[in-house]
Amino acid sequence: MPTLRHVLVIGVDGVRFDLLGPEVTPVIWSFTGNNFLTPVPVDESTPTWSGPCWATIATGTGVAGHGITGNDLTGHRLAEHPDFVTVATRAGVSTLLAVSGWPPLALAEDGGPLFAEAGRREFVPAAETSLAAWDAADEAVTELAASILAGEGPRLSFVYLGAVDVVGHVLGAGPAYREAARAADQRVGRLLAAVRSRPSVADEAWTTVVVTDHGHLDRGGHGGREPEVATAWAAAAGPGIGPGGPAPVTRQTQIAPLVMAALAIPA
Ligand SMILES: [Zn+2]
Repeated sequence: MPTLRHVLVIGVDGVRFDLLGPEVTPVIWSFTGNNFLTPVPVDESTPTWSGPCWATIATGTGVAGHGITGNDLTGHRLAEHPDFVTVATRAGVSTLLAVSGWPPLALAEDGGPLFAEAGRREFVPAAETSLAAWDAADEAVTELAASILAGEGPRLSFVYLGAVDVVGHVLGAGPAYREAARAADQRVGRLLAAVRSRPSVADEAWTTVVVTDHGHLDRGGHGGREPEVATAWAAAAGPGIGPGGPAPVTRQTQIAPLVMAALAIPA
């Protein structure tokens, strides 16, 4: 009987829901089978910027709670509304935070870190402001996180990939954006394969979550309420999730409670 609960949350920034499918994102699309993959509207009160959307996902509370309205997190109320990695760490759970490219998620920059406490914290900077540098940072974070997942296997991990969003900003939601999403999907697949490779996996109960924060306009960019921007999505698989049941996540505030429930940590 698998008994030891584990959770892997993969955050992929800025991936439009209408981009998902068996052709471009087969790994993420595979969550439609036995589990769920569902559009998640960004709450009306939440600006469709990365800062507030990831804060809502990480804390389970909206802007009225965490107080983050933009990509500078200064003035936040995260002390009263901590992120799920911090809550798990304080509960004695082994945790990993692995972030590519965007400092305030992991570092004390721009009002961060959004994720305050983690047993192990890894940040890979995008060494230059180039698309190649962001792709390289995503690749390095994937490689590092996969080795940690296959090895020590923290009970809760949050892995963040940022390159797709940057491609959207620079080139719009066209062919290069689709290719970036394809690369991110393959990286998601490598992280899931690392979990499956664990010698002890049969004795572990793994919940996996893949989530984005917002979409993009056709020409690139976000921040407004257009459907292609304000429609995020979430996918999850694990014990007690699906098949055939109603999607347990319909709002971004429901991700953190799902993580806590999967770890059996009181919210
Ligand atoms: Zn974003």
